[in-house]
Amino acid sequence: MTGNALSDAIARLAATPRLLVALDFDGTVSPLVDKPSESRVLPAARNAIDELESLQDTWVAFVSGRPLDGLVRVTEADDSALLIASHGVEVRLTGGAVDVGLSTEERSVLDALRERLQRLAADTPGAHVESKPVGLGLHTRGVAHAEAATAQAEARSAAAELGGFIERGGKDILEFAVRDATKGDGIEVLRKHVDATAVLFAGDDVTDEDGFAVLDGDDVGVKVGDGETRAGYRVADPFAIAEMLAVLSTSRANRAAQ
Ligand SMILES: [Mg+2]
Repeated sequence: MTGNALSDAIARLAATPRLLVALDFDGTVSPLVDKPSESRVLPAARNAIDELESLQDTWVAFVSGRPLDGLVRVTEADDSALLIASHGVEVRLTGGAVDVGLSTEERSVLDALRERLQRLAADTPGAHVESKPVGLGLHTRGVAHAEAATAQAEARSAAAELGGFIERGGKDILEFAVRDATKGDGIEVLRKHVDATAVLFAGDDVTDEDGFAVLDGDDVGVKVGDGETRAGYRVADPFAIAEMLAVLSTSRANRAAQ
């Protein structure tokens, strides 16, 4: 693992009575890939997650900007898995999903923006539009920097013209949503749901900062990779996250055995 400070924090987490481990998916437990549908949890991380889930008073949740159905697919999560999808708009508790129930007005403004963005994507080779439960994402991974910037600027003005959208930028994606929720909101829902005494949250992107912002007390925030962050700790990449999770699951299993 990285620094001693993080090792100490992980040791403290391992000893907490009720632990929630919340993990961003893309770029945190799975390396970023060109085809988002093909990303998967690193095998070493998968093993540690399975072990953590088997322990008493320990819960693992995936946290993502992806829509719920897509997140289920890439995480290969079973029906009992806790999931925070669409940046906190959809939170799946043990057994059921949250229905986001869009109004007619919300649907029509989304349809109008979808049409505009799809035309834009058609003119920008490599770009594509993703429909999300309460919004749309313009993906520009693989698009040259200048073209991506132009497409994003045009998407912004289309959204501004229609009105009512909340904008969110990420790595190679620009999103427009008609509802506001953050990963931090999702983490708070799950914290209450499992009555956690401490939360570990790890993430690599700007939207994960909303998750770090709700951490407090004995919680531990781990930023993956470069960039400004309010997380207390930092690791280099998903491989380091897998290693950290293995250390956590081993020491928590030992605690349980005592
Ligand atoms: Mg990510």
